Amino acid sequence: MPPQLEVPVQYLKGVGPARAAMLQKAKIGTVEDLLNYQPFRYEDRSSFRLIDQLRVGEDALVEGEIAVCGNYSTPMKRVRIFELVVEDRSGALTVKFFNQPYLQRVLRNRQRLILYGQVRRDDYTLRPVLLNPEWELMDSSSEPAIHSGRIVPIYRRVGKLTTRSLRTIVYRALSQLQPDLQDPIPDRLLEKHGLPDRRRAWQELHFPSLPEERKREAFLQDLESGATPAQRRFVFEEFFLFHLGLQMVRRDRESLPKTRRIEINNRIREVVKGILPFHPTAAQKRVVGEIVGDLRSGNVMRRLLHGDVGSGKTIVALQAMVVVLENGFQAALMAPTEILAEQHFRTLSRFLRSTDYRLALLTGRVRGKRRREILEQIRSGGVQLVIGTHALLEAPVRFRDLGLAVIDEQHRFGVLQRSRLMGKGDQPDVLIMTATPIPRSLALTVYGDLDLSVLDELPPGRQPVETVLCSERDRNRVYELLKRELAQGRQAFVVYPLIEESDKLELRAAEEMTGQLREVFPGSGVGLIHGRLKGEEKDAQMEALRDGTIQILVATTVVEVGLDVPNATVMVVEHADRFGLSQLHQLRGRIGRGSHQGTCVLMTGDARSENAFRRLDIMCRTSDGFRIAEEDLEIRGPGEFVGTRQSGVPQFQFGNIVRDRRLLELAAEEARDHLARLTKGARGEVKDHMTRLADQWRSRFGLFDVG
Ligand code: ADP
Ligand code: MG
Repeated sequence: MPPQLEVPVQYLKGVGPARAAMLQKAKIGTVEDLLNYQPFRYEDRSSFRLIDQLRVGEDALVEGEIAVCGNYSTPMKRVRIFELVVEDRSGALTVKFFNQPYLQRVLRNRQRLILYGQVRRDDYTLRPVLLNPEWELMDSSSEPAIHSGRIVPIYRRVGKLTTRSLRTIVYRALSQLQPDLQDPIPDRLLEKHGLPDRRRAWQELHFPSLPEERKREAFLQDLESGATPAQRRFVFEEFFLFHLGLQMVRRDRESLPKTRRIEINNRIREVVKGILPFHPTAAQKRVVGEIVGDLRSGNVMRRLLHGDVGSGKTIVALQAMVVVLENGFQAALMAPTEILAEQHFRTLSRFLRSTDYRLALLTGRVRGKRRREILEQIRSGGVQLVIGTHALLEAPVRFRDLGLAVIDEQHRFGVLQRSRLMGKGDQPDVLIMTATPIPRSLALTVYGDLDLSVLDELPPGRQPVETVLCSERDRNRVYELLKRELAQGRQAFVVYPLIEESDKLELRAAEEMTGQLREVFPGSGVGLIHGRLKGEEKDAQMEALRDGTIQILVATTVVEVGLDVPNATVMVVEHADRFGLSQLHQLRGRIGRGSHQGTCVLMTGDARSENAFRRLDIMCRTSDGFRIAEEDLEIRGPGEFVGTRQSGVPQFQFGNIVRDRRLLELAAEEARDHLARLTKGARGEVKDHMTRLADQWRSRFGLFDVG
């Protein structure tokens, strides 16, 4: 009986309990896991060489017969050496194996042997020699050559299992595989996209068949970059199933009926219009329409609002919240920092001045009696709009009837925190806002189960921020620029990187800079704000910035997100090369929010690396957050992409969301289409299969609890 895919590896020939345990540690439990353990590279061992043509330094593959062989020890160092001489029709070659005396029992005279390794020059004889080459007997086993004479897979070691042992085990597993495997990708799609079926793909993944000579070079390159049909098949499979899972979560949600009824009528429209001091942009109108559509629908909203920095997300959220309030439900807005929550509280209070709504601010700093009062009012419905930080997530916070939860700058929150806020009501509608300019391929992966709205237009009158790269030598020129701007009544930020809040050295640098600026600009207020300040102290600095007592605010990256000070026109970023591009984009977004021209100065040391320069230069060339994100992704890879680690970009086994972007998008499309077909036909059996798969994926990727 041939092994099924679910059979434990232990039952494969050549894998006993000890090896099985090693494999298990690397999460290889079943035959299927083993087959999914892909080679990390390949070697072309398809062309044999004649011994008399070997050159020192080259990799060589030779086939010959053992003429003599035996063990000996070196007299001085007592190294055990098994040495043999192999002959082919052109000549003879010496081969040495160190500390492997057991070879004497395996290799004998007159056996035919294939050897693969780098040709060295022997220290003693000065003739070519192979040291510890890979070898394979030709005549003793019934199996054809698997370690040579072909393109050979190279695996990462698993415990004590070498690439060679793994190769043998995989080879056996493949040769025993049943012919009629169920394929998770429908035949229709395999055909459409020219992908091999599962069995063939595994075969080709591990033991690629050798293309004819003239196509070999190109094929090897494809292998190296993961572009062969077999490799692409597994990437597609992974993405396809992943998206099926996402789509199914989404569909489950769509069938989740809402207990609230949200209506909109002319009176409410008037109220919403009345609170805005300016005309919304066309994009803002469109997005508000999309959100209100969700609010009124019978299904719970899970919508992501993406808008670049300064695009005006706050008033979009405000309008949505007012609609909910007008229908008699509560709304909550959660921001990642106290400063930002505080700013939102101010702004929204101002916008809602003419209404009767009661707002509350709840952060970690609100304690004691005041906190008890607010909690009570949230519970009783005495306040309708609650703005806060993570403090909103604490257990004692209970709403009377939360209708809408808005999460600002979502990339700062983990998935768990998001779903905790959602648990604060009876399936509240949720709007998630982000400025992280996330490339489409990533957005599909991280937010694939959310509906997406995009604010792709800035409010009128904005002037693009000019960005310049400067080094220490230019510092005086930078100060002159500051002087000019301050003279015109504008304000400025000077930002220092602070990797950790506890980074004392960096903090000292920021403090010194503050002192220096006070000397250079004696007539101006220079403030300092950093993460270790107490809440009240931060407030005082922000307040001073807003009322103009402070003209220059030196800050660590606490100013990064959300801050809105329209009078600030200069942003100087010290050690700009230590920031990620997306972070720089966020920082730059703090200026140019009013009608005055802004300048962003990126300071670097005099000796900046080529790479750093290339990165920063992008900032000077574009202000398009999406392009910057793409570049960031290109340069740093998905793992490093700012804000994604927390948001749970899944680690794929085959797929690489940067390299395989196109395939990711294709798989998403096909998954959507496939699911639609399935539902139409309502073929229960297929659905069960899908559900099982989706469950597996859910637990594997663990990011489906977005709600
Ligand atoms: P972000 O999308 O980065 O959160 P904000 O919501 O803070 O942006 O808005 C940035 C600035 O633009 C704020 O000062 C806001 O009052 C202003 N703003 C928003 N929408 C408009 C508009 N339609 N017309 C003019 N100013 C606007
Ligand atoms: Mg904002």
